[in-house]
Amino acid sequence: MEPGGDHIDGDEPREKCGIVGVSLTDRAAVRPLYYALYALQHRGQESAGIVTHDGFQQHSHVERGLVGDAFDERALESLAGSTGIGHVRYPTAGSLDKSCAQPFSVSFKSGSLGLSHNGNLVNADEVRAELESAGHAFTSDGDTEVIAHDLARNLLEEDLVRAVKHTMGRIHGSYSLTITHDDTVLGVRDPLGNRPLCLGKLEDGYVLASESAAIDTLDGELIRDVKPGELVVLEPDGAGYDTYQLVDAGSTAHCFFEHVYFARPDSIIDGSLVYEVRRELGRKLWEESGVESDVVMPVPDSGRAFASGYVDAAHETTADGDPRAEDDGGVEFAEGLMKNRYVGRTFIMPTQDERERAVRLKLNPIRSTVEGKTVTIIDDSIVRGTTSTQLVELVREAGAEAVHMRIGAPPIVAPCYFGIDMATREELIAADRSVEEIRERIAADSLAYLSIDAVAAALEASRADLCLGCVTGEYPFDVEGETTDRRVERPEFSGVPADD
Ligand code: AMP
Repeated sequence: MEPGGDHIDGDEPREKCGIVGVSLTDRAAVRPLYYALYALQHRGQESAGIVTHDGFQQHSHVERGLVGDAFDERALESLAGSTGIGHVRYPTAGSLDKSCAQPFSVSFKSGSLGLSHNGNLVNADEVRAELESAGHAFTSDGDTEVIAHDLARNLLEEDLVRAVKHTMGRIHGSYSLTITHDDTVLGVRDPLGNRPLCLGKLEDGYVLASESAAIDTLDGELIRDVKPGELVVLEPDGAGYDTYQLVDAGSTAHCFFEHVYFARPDSIIDGSLVYEVRRELGRKLWEESGVESDVVMPVPDSGRAFASGYVDAAHETTADGDPRAEDDGGVEFAEGLMKNRYVGRTFIMPTQDERERAVRLKLNPIRSTVEGKTVTIIDDSIVRGTTSTQLVELVREAGAEAVHMRIGAPPIVAPCYFGIDMATREELIAADRSVEEIRERIAADSLAYLSIDAVAAALEASRADLCLGCVTGEYPFDVEGETTDRRVERPEFSGVPADD
């Protein structure tokens, strides 16, 4: 299904967010920031915020709701200045704790700071405790404020680049950040590049954004991804930018799930167009586990690109891998599941019963496309199994003779700690079940997932350069109680910034 809209559960805080920053020559930054946030709305629907700086003073507006609801004309006009940052945040159940909404903004002795964060630190408590013992008072329990305070402290003693470097040496976990320090806008990506961040050129300035689709929206041009461990500093007059490779981890841990599910298909992330990666994953899905059936239908919206690749490959070869005969039409692609676009987003579903109802509110099969036919349903992933179970049942009720499920990702066996809202381990249908057990539970005639190797091949990356935590249970960061898939160490710090 579409990002953010469907798989909504408990009430733990989430950091599945979209961020942006712009620096312009002499135009107000607020409209470009506002439009960019619209382009990133799929990355978070709970709250939206913008912080700008007019050369003298910082301005901030953060509100609950979708971008279109969070800002009215007055709010937009109040955000003066040609530099600024923005943020959209993922929904949580219950009331919004506004102190966790972003961008976080603070004024301190050596100026003002605004921070937008996508990702999740695993040592925020340690850093917070240490800052508290040094006299810092916190207004929220979010990671972002921890980063802001750490940076503010460093900035009292050193220049911006050193301050960022020292903070990067102390925080551990995933982070893409856009930051305002007075009227200077910065972009930072964690040393493993877990969450995306890219840099673009506008006619009259520069932009940093979670996804390149936001740059397109501003008529800008994607320059490149911000590199893992890199700091990009936009000049306040929009004339240029400087970059500093502050940390070189030697390997990366890009989140493969951005390409599978989370990002927009029209975004280019870490060098690959999400749409093409999804089509390629679909092709590989056919090659690995194609099943002959009368129709292939995607689960809208995220299954579409997978299904189109799958059907393309199915036209070339049979499920056995032999070239398809010219008079064999292969399988037919059908948009057989209709989606109600008005359900979802902030539709909170705390119970399993409500989740099941929500699938039926959201998706309905077109009877004539499935009646009397063998059907393959393609989705990008299975989390709890609610969607697949409901869909198999719906499609059978609509008269399908057989229902096969094909999934464009490996089984999700473990939670994500770094910015994607997966369910808890207990809730994940694949956490302790074999594929055959899952097939039985969702009552499909057959079920197959994609292999991890196929994911790495489609991303043209080695397994060692991806974060595969949710499909292997081994993580690239040192999460308490979990195993790691590489040599990583939580930073040890004494409170005194380390020497260079
Ligand atoms: P589930 O019904 O719990 O198995 O969730 C699977 C469905 O939710 C699929 O249709 C996915 O497209 C979608 N999905 C996968 N991951 C997420 C996520 N992190 N947040 C929201 N929806 C998701």
